[in-house]
This record gives sequence, structure tokens and C-alpha cells, in this order.
Amino acid sequence: MLSRTELKVEADKVVGELETLRGKPLSKEEKEFLARAYEFAYLVHEGQTRLSGEPYIVHPVEVAKILAQLGVDTITLAAALLHDTIEDSQEVTIERLKEEFGEIVAKIVDGVTKVEHISTTVGPDQDSKKKMETIQKMFLAMAEDMRVIFVKLADRLHNMRTINFVEDPEKRRQKAYETLEIYAPLAHKLGIYTMKSELEDAAFKVLYPEEYYKIKELVAKKKKEREDRTNEYIKILKSALEEHGIDAIVEGRYKHYYSIWRKMVEKGKKFEEIYDLIALRVVVKDVTTCYTVLGIVHNLWKPLPGRFKDYIAAPKSNGYRSLHTTVITNYGEPLEVQIRDEEMHKEAEYGLIAHWIYKEKPDLKTAKEWIERLLEWRKELAQGLAEFDDIKKELQMDEVYVFTPKGDIKHLPKGATPIDFAYAIHTEIGHHFAGAKVNGKIVPIDYQLQNGDVVEIIVNKNSPGPSIDWLKYAKTQNARAKIKKFIKEKLAPELVERGKEILRKVCRKLGKSFEEALQAEGIKKHLSLYQEKDFFMKIGEGTITVQDLVEAITGQKVLPTRKQVGKRKKSTQSVVKVEGIESIELHIAKCCNPVKGDPIVAVVSRKGMSVHRKDCRNLRGMPEEKLFRAEWVVDSSERFDAFVRVVLDSEKNLPSLVDRVTALGAEFVAVKVLKMGEPFFLQLHIRVNSTAELGEFISRLRTYRYVLDAERVIQ
Ligand code: MN
Repeated sequence: MLSRTELKVEADKVVGELETLRGKPLSKEEKEFLARAYEFAYLVHEGQTRLSGEPYIVHPVEVAKILAQLGVDTITLAAALLHDTIEDSQEVTIERLKEEFGEIVAKIVDGVTKVEHISTTVGPDQDSKKKMETIQKMFLAMAEDMRVIFVKLADRLHNMRTINFVEDPEKRRQKAYETLEIYAPLAHKLGIYTMKSELEDAAFKVLYPEEYYKIKELVAKKKKEREDRTNEYIKILKSALEEHGIDAIVEGRYKHYYSIWRKMVEKGKKFEEIYDLIALRVVVKDVTTCYTVLGIVHNLWKPLPGRFKDYIAAPKSNGYRSLHTTVITNYGEPLEVQIRDEEMHKEAEYGLIAHWIYKEKPDLKTAKEWIERLLEWRKELAQGLAEFDDIKKELQMDEVYVFTPKGDIKHLPKGATPIDFAYAIHTEIGHHFAGAKVNGKIVPIDYQLQNGDVVEIIVNKNSPGPSIDWLKYAKTQNARAKIKKFIKEKLAPELVERGKEILRKVCRKLGKSFEEALQAEGIKKHLSLYQEKDFFMKIGEGTITVQDLVEAITGQKVLPTRKQVGKRKKSTQSVVKVEGIESIELHIAKCCNPVKGDPIVAVVSRKGMSVHRKDCRNLRGMPEEKLFRAEWVVDSSERFDAFVRVVLDSEKNLPSLVDRVTALGAEFVAVKVLKMGEPFFLQLHIRVNSTAELGEFISRLRTYRYVLDAERVIQ
């Protein structure tokens, strides 16, 4: 037991440590406030020990240290020191804390305590309804103040760091499971990368120890080789940046164990086949330089098409901003390069917390959106329409960002379709969805939205509303919940009636009574899958066809008619037709990059047949008999690589140029810096559907105010 004076000394020591970790000086009042919080917590926990045998006070101090490292405010630090005091003591109440430390600290501690009680019931064996209720309550407790989540995440992180002291293996697994299911996705949603990866690895180690140690060993084995290679890449890039007079921090970023394992499992790959174990991260001083660095990177190594992501122009919903590009290095391996400025870097590492600290006035838009999301989920959960799995999926899925025709940005999970987009805009627009145009072209209902797509929903005011079929295409739980609700409320009775009517007709045809039919083996099988009401609904709605019913009742297979067989066949779309030759493998020559609309010829090459521009340099002097007449298939939707040289008035307008490229309807692949200075020379690599589109693109680019000149590059 410490004496009064000893405790005071101890408190000052802890506060000093917190101040150092935080990296920003604390005022005298703040120091006193925190010292008081420490002393209070110390006395409440006196005599208690952790499972590790250490005095209990070590835990709240460690939690506060984790948060101090992220740079949080004094209120949050005090709440962290006090976070287990209500939990562990009969005398300490929320009122008492309010008197001693103010209303906000008391509320945060209360929120953390509530979450603690709730979360102990989420386990792998629990049924999803129970889980749903649990998560619902957790959201409720957390949504009141973001700082509840921060403290709770740090609390969980320290508990996971010391999980091996928990003796009961079931309890360990349960904590790890909960960490992976709830806390790591939460940290991800909040953009706190450092916490997310540590939580995931700690849980991974408990849940899948064999896999964890295996991957750890594999990573260690190749460590030297990978480090050498990373250092080489860093050297190459650094000297290229120096040549252009750019100051930058270039470092290697290693994938954490859990994300390697997930990639192996999801993609069915072996460890040796995971290439993106490392990525380069470039941190520069401002936004404009980010785009210049992108140009330099694309000059050094060949960019992989379709892998450029401009999260600066369109940040992820957790606020993450950076440029991402993947290039093929001199060793022929793909390498991801992330480019950002210092502010973006802090945000990426510390996520939402950074918004609270590094900005004079914290940008609370993301925080607000997040809380609104939580409240929305809560409501849907309460109505019992959203399933636990849906939410889990949404938390873990990657995102795409798309635009409304007016240029508003919408974030949707990867794989989302136009229906999801329609519901994201407005429930009524979703209900009256009749089709969609993406970048001006009609797309099929199952089209998966891509980053940067401009999506326009075609609405039919007279449409009967969503059908069960839509659930096949709707990927977000927001859209799914709304569709289910609509069907349940409006259409269910009608569909059930219609379904019964259809079944009655089938029965009459087969000479069986309705009751007899329901006893048939095949029908019973259906009824074991769905409730009776849903079964009739699926008939009424056409998901279960008359043919299915006949088969189910008679137990005999009905042969499909000729017409149906023909329908299933789909013709493969080709891009180029070559005279007199069918079904030979064609590819577009890389030397002259023809675009649909260019005059072309086909040439037999080692790889099959390649399509060149008629005026391609490499065809000069080629004997006539080796050339085949070729023509474009007019209605193909294929996109072709094209290169455009652009003269820009100044480097500082490069970001808006990259933005403009996508706005003009071309797919941006890469940008190469040709010559720095003013004017600024660069080469754009884009993808377009035709020469008409390319011509339009170039002429519209020429009218852009910062562009002095633009022309297509041929060879
Ligand atoms: Mn705790």
C-alpha cells in the first residue's frame, strides 16, 4: 500500500509518461486533473490483481497509454484511467464520477461499462438473433459519444495483448472471436489502421494458432530477401524523386499476418502466390506533389491497368485519403505504391481520432455520418429486418465510390449494383427502379458498380415495386431491408393468394387434391426450406415455377423445351473480325495501340493473331500475304488503351486534370511526367471505347482551362 505522498509521486510519473506519449504538452490544470483521475482509480482498484498477477491499476494505465499515443484529449485520457471503476466497485457510481470529474467523463465511463456488460454475450455458438440484440445494444451505448468507442477499442487492445493469462481456452476463443467480429471491423470503419491490424493479429493467434505460427514462420523465412528488395525499390524511387527535387519519406509497408492469411483463404492461394506482401508508402508535403509523384512512379515502372485509385478526389467513407497505384517492377512483380501528404498520413494511421486532434476545428462530418449509420442500423435491427450476417458483411467488405449525375458521391460496398445505389439515394427511387445508366450507357441489373461510375437511375412511377428477385441483386443491407419490408407489407397477401391459385391449377391438371399435393415428397422438401407463406409467395412470384411444382409433386423430371435450351446459350462477344478466319485468338498490338475506329490489319504472330494500326511502323516492308483484312465489331463494349500527350500550364493543376479525365468519361490508367516545369509536359494513359470517344475526349480536354495542348500519341 502506498502512502499519500508515494501515491502523489506515482500519479505524477504516470501523467508524465502520458504527456510524453501524447507528444503535446499538457497544461498545469490538465496534469492535475489526470493525476486526480489516476489517484482515484488507484484507490478503487487497490488490492485487486489482473490474471497476470500484476496490480489491477496497470490495466487502465496501459489503456490510457494506448490512447495517449494516438494523441487524444484529456477527457478521453481521464475516462481511460477511470474506465473500470464503476464496474469494479460498489461505492463508485456514475453520480460520484460526475461530481469528481464532470459530466462528460462520467458519461464516457458509463458507456464503456455498458458495452462491457453487453459484449460478453457475443460468441461463436450464439444464435444470430441474440447476437443481433447484443450488437444493437452496443451501438446504442457507443453512439452517444465517439470517445466511448475509442476507450473501448483501447481497452480491448490491451486485453488482447494479455489474453494468454486467461486460463479458460473457451473464454479466450470467445474474446478473440468477438474482437474479430466486432472490434477490428469497428477500428477499420473508423480508419484506425494501427489498432485494426494489431487486434486482428492478436485474435488470429488465439483462434487459428497453427495457421498464425505457420505464416509467421513463412514471413520470417523470406524476411531478408523481401527487405533487400524493398530497400532496392525505395532506393530507386528515392533517387528518381530527388532528381525532380521532391522531398519525400519513402518506406516499406508490410502486410500483417491476418490479412495475408485472409487473402490466402479468400483467393485460394498459396503463401508463395501472395505478391503484395509489401507496398511502398510515399509521404510528401502537399496534395499537388502527390500527383507529381504518381507521374514519376508511372515513369519508373509500368502501371497495372485498373489498379489506380484516387482516394484524394473521392475519399473512402472512413475518411481515408491517398493515391493508390500498382506497378510492375523491374523484377516483374506487382508492387502497390500509396502516395499521400503528411496530414493524410496521420489520418490513415489514426483514423477518426486524427480528426479530433490534428485539426483546429475537427471535421466531424465522418463522425456524424458514422453515428447516423449506427442509429440507422439500430432501427433496422429493432425491426428485425436486417440479419446479423448482413451487417457483418458490410463492415468487412471493401467499398466502391460512385457518383450521382449531379456529382454527389455515394459509398457502397464492393459488389453493389444499381439497385443498391437507387436505395442509397431514396427509398422511393429504389422501389420504382426500372433500370440504370452507368456513364451514359444502359447496364444490366446485376452490373457491379465500379469506382468513379456515374450512375443514373431510370424510374418508372407506375412500376409495381420491388420483387423477391431483387434480393439476388441487392448487396447492401440497407437495400435488402427495404425490399424485404416492402414485399412483406404490400405484396405478401397477394402473392400468397396467387401462389395458392397456381398450385391449385397444377393440382387440377395432375388430378390431385391440394392436400395430397402438399404431402408429396418434393413439396415437403420445399416446405422444409421455407415457411409455408414464403413457399406460396415464391410460387406466386415465379421463383418456383410451374415446372418445378410438377416435378416436385410427381417426382419426375420434366424435360425442358427446345426454346428454353436455346435461350441459355450466349454468344461470345468479339472485338475484331478477320476475313476468312474464325475463332482464332486475337490480341491488340501493344506497339501501336489501335482503338476501335482506327484502320487496322491483322498479322499472324507467335501468339496467334495480332491487330495493328494500318500505319504501324512495325508493319513497314511486311509482305502482303502476311497481312489479313480486319474490321472492328461495331457494337463491342471493349475499351482500348490510348495515350495522350498533354501540355499543362503548371504542375499544380495536375490533380484537377486527373479528376477531369474521369469526368470526361475515359478510364484513367496512369500518368507519366515527361518534363517538369512550367509548362508541364505529361502523358496520359487512358482507356476508351472508340476513336470517336477518344477524339471527343481530346477536343474537350483542349478546352479545359489549364490545358495548353493535347494530342494523341501514336507510337
Ligand atoms: Mn478494462
